[in-house]
Amino acid sequence: MPNTRVIPVDPDDPDPLAIAEAAEIIRSGGLVAFATETVYGLGADATNPEAVARIFEAKGRPSTNPLIVHIAYRDEAAACVSRWPDRAELLADRFWPGPLTLVLPRSPIIPDIVTAGHDTVGVRVPRPKVARKLIRAAGRPIAAPSANRSTGVSPTAAEHVLEDLDGKVDLILDSGWTAIGLESSVLDLSGPRPIVLRPGQITQELLASTLGEPVDRLESHVEASDFRSPGLMSVHYAPRKPAYRIDRDRFFAHPVGGRYLLISIGPLPEPWPRGPARHTSHVRHHSPTSAARSLYHHLHHLDRAPDLDYLAIIPPPDEPRWRAVRDRIWRATRPWPVEESTSPEGNA
Ligand code: AMP
Ligand code: MG
Repeated sequence: MPNTRVIPVDPDDPDPLAIAEAAEIIRSGGLVAFATETVYGLGADATNPEAVARIFEAKGRPSTNPLIVHIAYRDEAAACVSRWPDRAELLADRFWPGPLTLVLPRSPIIPDIVTAGHDTVGVRVPRPKVARKLIRAAGRPIAAPSANRSTGVSPTAAEHVLEDLDGKVDLILDSGWTAIGLESSVLDLSGPRPIVLRPGQITQELLASTLGEPVDRLESHVEASDFRSPGLMSVHYAPRKPAYRIDRDRFFAHPVGGRYLLISIGPLPEPWPRGPARHTSHVRHHSPTSAARSLYHHLHHLDRAPDLDYLAIIPPPDEPRWRAVRDRIWRATRPWPVEESTSPEGNA
């Protein structure tokens, strides 16, 4: 494939011609990368198995890892799923459009390749105009995983997509940075009890209070062979250079070599210990929103910056509102060599 084309679009008022062109590519079996509120997606016609196969090929994604199907309006879910329980109605009412994927029994229009051969499908309605206008103009649901090579860091800007997938995607609609910056919450509604398969901005607690019933959560470090959350293998979002999760005190207590960016994530404006090494620059994120929006940006920056050897990330506390950020930090980092590994739930 020749080089990928990039069309800049206004997120608030995308050019109809650009949308029409992108929709035509989707309809004819091609790939278009576009921004959702979470990360950039690599989209193809979800009802066309050959088109969807190109997504797997471009990403180098294992065929065991299913794709999320994006629709423009809630009513369109009916075509993709074979059952729409009351729970789905309640959650769609409150959170769609938004960063919540619902896993439900699939309908016959969704081919095997989308669901990795299983009988459920993940669906969601993204919020941005560009995404919804594209889906609507294409006239079919769009399967779209994150637009990065498999096991790489999810893209939060068009340039990240281009770096990873230039020549492998027909078109990128560049509408700027994504608003949330972390992947959607994934909730499995296909069994007797709702289960969070992937934590995101919409927390387990918020889902439980909306549903008025308990919501379970899958252990975050699961075997790759556990189908229930195929995309949730331990190291999934790793940058190429090392990123470490560190304990604030122990990090500063040990001599540190190399050039690094220190990222402190957490609620309190704690003072830095005195005298960090000369090459250190640092950044702090006090809120989950700001941390989520910036985390992948920092990971992408690490791989691109010649003057940076590694990242040192001080993770936020083990609290529900930080769970999604902690989950992604644990996937993208290794423990600082002097520390023992702990899980993001702090139970290891
Ligand atoms: P990505 O599109 O790269 O953000 O990954 C989508 C993730 O959603 C997958 O890796 C799964 O963890 C989850 N997912 C999508 N569809 C299903 C499904 N039918 N059953 C279980 N998990 C799913
Ligand atoms: Mg992904």
